[in-house]
Amino acid sequence: MRKPILAANWKMNMNSAELSAFIGQFIPLVANAEAVDIVIAPPFTLLDRLTQQIAGTAIQAAGQNVNPEENGAFTGEIAPGMLADMGCTYAIVGHSERRALYAESDEFVARKAAALLDHHICPIVCVGETLEQRDAGRALEVVETQIRESLAQVPSDQADQIVVAYEPVWAIGTGRTATPENAQQVHEHIRKRLAAKFGEAGNRIRIQYGGSVKPETVYDLMSQPDIDGALVGGASLDPEAFARIVHFQSQRIQ
Ligand code: PEP
Repeated sequence: MRKPILAANWKMNMNSAELSAFIGQFIPLVANAEAVDIVIAPPFTLLDRLTQQIAGTAIQAAGQNVNPEENGAFTGEIAPGMLADMGCTYAIVGHSERRALYAESDEFVARKAAALLDHHICPIVCVGETLEQRDAGRALEVVETQIRESLAQVPSDQADQIVVAYEPVWAIGTGRTATPENAQQVHEHIRKRLAAKFGEAGNRIRIQYGGSVKPETVYDLMSQPDIDGALVGGASLDPEAFARIVHFQSQRIQ
C-alpha cells in the first residue's frame, strides 16, 4: 500500500567527479527497481549536475536542508523555490546533525516543512531520540513531541505528501542499528500519532528508518509493518551498497 522509499543522504561528501562516477555505476544497477522511490540528497553544489545526470531515470533529487523564507538577506541559505528550480522533489528537514550542531528547533523545522509543501516539494522530516533519552526510558515521549511540533504546520489535506524519518541519534554513523523490533516499536507509535493527527492520511504517510542501515540489515528492517523505507548516510556513498539497499527484497540473509 505504501511505496517504499530509499533515500541517500550524502551529507558533506562528494565532488563533481565522484558524483559522475557514482551515477554512472548506480543507474544500471537500479534500472529495474520500479516498485520503489529512489532519492539522492547530494550537497547543494551538486544538485544541478545530479538532476542532469538522472534525467530520464526514476531517481529523484533532494535537498539536505532548506530555509523557510522565500528569499532575502539570509547569507549562505537556500530557499524552497531554489530547490524546486533545481528539480528537487524532496528535501530533508530536521536532521539530527542540524538539530544538534546548528540548534534547529522543532518550530523552525515545522516552518521548513510547510514552506516546502508550498513549493510542491516533499519534506522528509527527521525525528529521533539521543542515547541518554533512550536510556532514561523517554524515547517514545521525545519522538512524539518532535512529531507533534515539527508537523504542526502541515495541513491535513497535504499530510500524505510528507515522509517521516525515524533516526535514533545513537544509531547514526555509529555502526549500531536499532533492532528491527526496537525500530518497529517506535514506528508503530509514530504511526498512531500520525493517524490521530491526520486521520486516514496518517496511514498513507511513509515512515523511513535511518541509522547505520546496510545491505545486510535492510531486509529485516523493511520486513516490519510500519517501516516503509530507509534514509541512508554512510552506505549510500557506495553505489553498489546503495543499489543493494534499493533492492532490499533480495538482501535476505539466509
Ligand atoms: C543519516 O545521517 O541520515 C544516517 C542515517 O547516516 P548513517 O546511515 O551513516 O548512520
